[in-house]
Amino acid sequence: MAGSFVDTARITVRAGTGGGGAVAFHREKYVAAGGPDGGDGGRGGSVILRVDPHMSTLMDFRYKRKYTAENGKDGSGNRCSGKDGADLVIRVPRGTVVRDLETKEIICDMSGDEDHVLAKGGNGGWGNQHFATPTRQVPRFAKAGLPGQYREVILELKLLADVGLVGFPNVGKSTLLSVVTRAQPKIANYHFTTLSPNLGVVPMDDGRSFVLADIPGIIEGAAQGAGLGHDFLRHIDRCRLLIHVVDVSGSEGRDPVEDFDAICEELAHWSPELASRRMLVAANKVDVMEDPELLQKLRAHVEAKGCPLFELSAATHQGTRELMYAAAAELSSLPPVIVYEPTYVERPPEVDTSEALDIQQDEDGTWLVDGPWLRQLMANVNFSDYESRNWFERRLREAGVYQQMEALGVQDGDTVCLYNLEFEYQK
Ligand code: GDP
Ligand code: MG
Repeated sequence: MAGSFVDTARITVRAGTGGGGAVAFHREKYVAAGGPDGGDGGRGGSVILRVDPHMSTLMDFRYKRKYTAENGKDGSGNRCSGKDGADLVIRVPRGTVVRDLETKEIICDMSGDEDHVLAKGGNGGWGNQHFATPTRQVPRFAKAGLPGQYREVILELKLLADVGLVGFPNVGKSTLLSVVTRAQPKIANYHFTTLSPNLGVVPMDDGRSFVLADIPGIIEGAAQGAGLGHDFLRHIDRCRLLIHVVDVSGSEGRDPVEDFDAICEELAHWSPELASRRMLVAANKVDVMEDPELLQKLRAHVEAKGCPLFELSAATHQGTRELMYAAAAELSSLPPVIVYEPTYVERPPEVDTSEALDIQQDEDGTWLVDGPWLRQLMANVNFSDYESRNWFERRLREAGVYQQMEALGVQDGDTVCLYNLEFEYQK
């Protein structure tokens, strides 16, 4: 899981357009004039987001940014409906938060197991079988399918680690991670932090497991954006528990208490909420400890703050089991990770209503209204909602559609047909 960690991506998704309805008439030997039997167009495919537990980065989205679902097929005679367009499923790593590109509002948080329909396919148009009435027995028209939704979004991966490892560079975070999980982070004896957060699953004997993340980059000044830390701190937003690794070996003349306080200050600077998270302290490198008093001082210091201390040697594995058990026990009583609530408000697309619509009256007197922007609008209005219907009505009025129809001679009580919507004209 180490390596280039792509944690944001921009993609565009387009759902399929609905297929067109058919104009057809029943034909049978010896039957003089068959009725209309044009079938409906199929629904356009939707674009669906799904969590893939095996994905851990947004890497794939670097190379593929446009996603389009299949269109619905046209209907045909004999009341045959067109085939629905296939949905397009986009797999994302767990913990992907999806935002609207323009407004940055949260559309969904892919932390659970539910699919999310990111762009809805357009409805298929009705075939002429639906348009026969006592006064209109030969409807020579059918409806086009409606366009699918189009969205531009940002994917943002928020690590879903349960436990975050924090501490100065070189204290042994990567070593600990490699010992308790199967992750293979870079381990180096120099003050240079790896560029990607590493994470791994810690299996417990009783079948439970949790995700542990090594968060590199917490260096002094990081919260002010001075170091690389800023970006990485973001990844522990969702950790429920922190393990603060402190080097107690006394090598390089470091003071464990000072180091501990410096990192805590750093965390608090970034996010007081994060700093207040439950913390276990791992006093590492006890195998090469020079001065046991350093350890005792650290123990007194952190226990006074309510943080349990565990002696550890990640290198020799001493104390790793105890630490992981303690972490698992803490997790069982801590609240679940943060899940982001959607803030996105669906808005109808911007359409240019100055474009003239095509308005015709068919031989039975039905008014047929058509045009690209009308389709676009209708694909995005929820007609079962009173408010939305009113809004749609207002848009038509503002666009001068009714005025145009009056000029063409529409009468009260005439039937008006907009795609799958038929209504009686009233002034
Ligand atoms: P990180 O920067 O916190 O991820 O630290 P690393 O895990 O890369 O370790 C830095 C150096 O400390 C490496 O040379 C490790 O081998 C060494 N190290 C890590 N844990 C221990 C330990 O418990 N005892 C000893 N003696 N060395 C350790
Ligand atoms: Mg490291």
